[in-house]
Amino acid sequence: MKCLVFSAKPYDRLYLEPKAREAGHELDFIETRINNKTCRLAEGYSAICTFVNDMLDAEILEAIHRAGIRLITLRCAGYNQVNLPKAQELGFKITRVPAYSPYAVAEHAVGMTLSLCRNLHRAYQRVRDNNFALDGLLGFDLHGREVGIIGTGAIGSVTAKIFSGFGCRVRLYDIQQNAACHGIGEYVPLEYLLQNSDIISLHCPLTPSTFHMINEQTIASMRKGVMLINTSRGGLVDTQAVIQGLKNSHIGSVGLDVYEEEGDLFFEDLSNRVITDDVFSRLLTFPNVLITAHQAFFTTDALNAIATTTVDNLTRFEANQPLLNCLT
Ligand code: NAD
Repeated sequence: MKCLVFSAKPYDRLYLEPKAREAGHELDFIETRINNKTCRLAEGYSAICTFVNDMLDAEILEAIHRAGIRLITLRCAGYNQVNLPKAQELGFKITRVPAYSPYAVAEHAVGMTLSLCRNLHRAYQRVRDNNFALDGLLGFDLHGREVGIIGTGAIGSVTAKIFSGFGCRVRLYDIQQNAACHGIGEYVPLEYLLQNSDIISLHCPLTPSTFHMINEQTIASMRKGVMLINTSRGGLVDTQAVIQGLKNSHIGSVGLDVYEEEGDLFFEDLSNRVITDDVFSRLLTFPNVLITAHQAFFTTDALNAIATTTVDNLTRFEANQPLLNCLT
């Protein structure tokens, strides 16, 4: 079957193309995101494959429906970028890849934590500049620290397990408890977690109820010097409030793999351009902030799993078989 892959990078092609060819599908790759102009390119295809910053709003869904698209395969876990009620109304089948590698994201979150607590990101630059002084690089042991995990699904539960392996005391919050976490950490109310954690790592989806869950009030309730890690979705965090918390030293350090307005920045090489997002630019000025550009998923294992599930769903759709990880 013919499928158009939006927001395609060379690595997407590398992993998707051989599997698709083997299964007898024809994939075309375009670098651009889907928008109200590029959606017309979907004409002549039966399916499209999109990524995290491809916004599938009502207008675009209607346009690709008119173009003949019936299957949308999201090659990501999160789906806050899709207008699901509209997709349902139009009769689209939408699939995602919910657990391509929870280890990839969990390990990235812990990697960011280790970098920040031992100042590795700054040490790397110093040593390259022949500056071997240690002043300003003083860290703290992870062992014995209290870690709060918000969202204990596939990724949060693996993150909790890794922190527990470091000898941390792990506290958990979720609207639904995960049996896999029992024995690793203790479920507590959100307020308790916020007030009693040295490190807080976010692993819940972006929904109306989680939007800006980290804000001026919740930051004020946290321990002074808290480390905040977000590898989930940028919208969970009110960035202005975090900047304020960093400026008054209430927040000790921040690791972000996602950012509220990342759509205009991430996944592109902008090294020759002026960044016009002043909030993002301010974040970059803090020595105790580590930012990666939505990279947590980016391992060979995860790309392989994403390609396998995506191609499998094209095959199933064509054969009229039940789809894997269907949202509608
Ligand atoms: P999951 O569905 O397995 O787990 C999410 C958990 O969050 C569930 O247990 C759910 O009950 C919980 N939750 C929902 N609403 C909540 C709320 N209001 N408060 C507390 N918990 C709540 O999802 P997952 O695979 O673990 O992924 C988590 C998130 O990570 C995804 O939604 C996605 O946004 C993000 N993600 C980021 C990357 C990356 O590269 N940075 C990659 C994959 C996923």
